[in-house]
Amino acid sequence: MKIINNNEVIIENGDLCPCGSQKKFKKCCKTKEYKYYTIGKNYKGQEIIYNYTLFKIKTNELINLCSNIQNKYDSKELKLEDAIRIVKEIYSRFDLCIEPFQKYSSCSKGCYGCCEQIVNTYYIESEIIKNYINENFNEGEQKIVIAKAQKNKGRYPKDINEAHPKYTEKEYVTFGRLPCIFLNDNGTCKIYKVRPFECRQYIVFNNPEDCYKDNAKDIHYEGYYFYYVRQTIKFIDKKLKNDRVRHLAKWFCE
Ligand code: SF4
Ligand code: SF4
Ligand SMILES: [Zn+2]
Repeated sequence: MKIINNNEVIIENGDLCPCGSQKKFKKCCKTKEYKYYTIGKNYKGQEIIYNYTLFKIKTNELINLCSNIQNKYDSKELKLEDAIRIVKEIYSRFDLCIEPFQKYSSCSKGCYGCCEQIVNTYYIESEIIKNYINENFNEGEQKIVIAKAQKNKGRYPKDINEAHPKYTEKEYVTFGRLPCIFLNDNGTCKIYKVRPFECRQYIVFNNPEDCYKDNAKDIHYEGYYFYYVRQTIKFIDKKLKNDRVRHLAKWFCE
């Protein structure tokens, strides 16, 4: 394998095929003439190689979906149930885009350092989670979630909006490391299927131990297509006339 022009990767005949088949490249995907790129190295020193050809197809599909939604509903009413369906579709397309990077990432089930931080959540995402809870949690489980949210209410930062674009450092300090109200005791997520975009997009390549330290530097990757997802979710919130962005737990305090 060699890297040219900074990030294009040339796979050689004897290398293991990047598709994960465990076969030599020559005997696997070579004839498909895919292009491969790297986004750099993970903390173990592995080059994060991805199939650029397939990746472009998936990201273009996601971007087209986002643009089509904005065009379709620009001057048309959007109902809550349609908005829920649309955001779920965006989530699943987005998951396909970041899938090639997962095998190099440090993130795994039960690892939860990132779940003790502020989680920006859009209104429509909070509605999706509320629906999921109503359908999947019994009354006792629902009460526990609400009680957890209420308990630390005073520590949640202000909502984010146009006039208040960022949380202040003071708000971060006051927030400290609060475990998410949806964390199970074993560090897994109770709402994994419908977790908000902020959680979905957060895959890192640093040592997982660093995620448990304050002010630790993460090796975090963000692609240009993340922007389209955020824009479209914001657009949907505006259509639904509730475009507040709040810390996840804050949606469950009312
Ligand atoms: S971001 Fe860090 S704490 Fe969260 S799952 Fe990934 S490695 Fe674990
Ligand atoms: S919603 Fe799930 S993934 Fe997101 S912070 Fe909470 S426990 Fe973690
Ligand atoms: Zn292959």
